[in-house]
Amino acid sequence: AKARGKGCFQIFENRMHELLLDKLDAEGRLRDAVHRGELRLHLQPVVALPGRAVGGVEALVRWQDPERGLQQPGAFIPLAEETGLIAEIDRWVLFEACMTVRRWQELDPAAAPAWVSVNLSAVELEVPDLTDRVAYALSTTGLSPQCLVLELTETVLMRDVAVTSARLEELRELGVKIAIDDFGTGYSSLGYLRDIPVDVLKVDRSFITDIVGNPRQQELVSAVIQLGHTLGLKVVVEGIETEDQLTLLTAIGCRYAQGYYLGRPEPVAALIERTTTGSET
Ligand code: C2E
Ligand code: CA
Ligand code: CA
Ligand code: CA
Repeated sequence: AKARGKGCFQIFENRMHELLLDKLDAEGRLRDAVHRGELRLHLQPVVALPGRAVGGVEALVRWQDPERGLQQPGAFIPLAEETGLIAEIDRWVLFEACMTVRRWQELDPAAAPAWVSVNLSAVELEVPDLTDRVAYALSTTGLSPQCLVLELTETVLMRDVAVTSARLEELRELGVKIAIDDFGTGYSSLGYLRDIPVDVLKVDRSFITDIVGNPRQQELVSAVIQLGHTLGLKVVVEGIETEDQLTLLTAIGCRYAQGYYLGRPEPVAALIERTTTGSET
């Protein structure tokens, strides 16, 4: 039994070793991804209701991994956060998003989105030069600060309320807008609505999944939308996948919506083509 135990341990050790090597390998390739130009920017529309005109877009990163193909953020953001590579990725996305939307606005001012949202990871707010970097991205690309929204999740915002508020005030002085992402999934939502300066609430899609035929859920989402509007915030509801969900949300006063039913994340070229030909799906 002892020998077998040792054998098992050997297998376990070999497997751990393999996993570690895999991880180092993935880390190395991800580290090079930025310099090799393997990151891709996808944009998902946020539409105004009831007309469904595109109001803004959210920037969502992808990685064109030469070995494994196009990777969704879920497949590499956790590793990027663990290793600190996320800072570089977020920096790339910020610049690329500002540049892309600025060019689009120049190309077609009538059809181009009025704003672009960029996701910031937890570490970003602790980097002292965040405001400088945002200012640099805006001045270099020429994008108007009013056209940039920075999305942060509740958990990030609640880390250190004093530091966060100060940092966000700096950013808002530049003229950029702040959004709370995945609203409702954290713990002290109402507390930071009081303490932290924000402009946009993005209601998490988990509230929308089962909203049709669920009166309680409808009341809850309706109340959140009213609360946001009362506080003078823009409220975006995420994760609209069906016509019924859209109809219902329109009826309860939702003014901005995002979801596969309204448009999937796409490379900018595809999105521009569809917006200008007007053949919306
Ligand atoms: P998120 O910020 O909450 O972004 C919305 C996610 O929901 C996106 O997934 C989007 O494709 C997906 N989505 C949109 N509409 C629907 C829908 O109707 N149904 C469903 N089921 N999903 C929908 P994606 O692109 O895979 O991104 C996942 C997460 O990765 C994002 O969640 C965000 O937290 C993170 N992420 C993406 N890009 C970046 C980035 O540039 N920087 C950082 N730090 N995080 C990013
Ligand atoms: Ca987001
Ligand atoms: Ca979200
Ligand atoms: Ca999220």
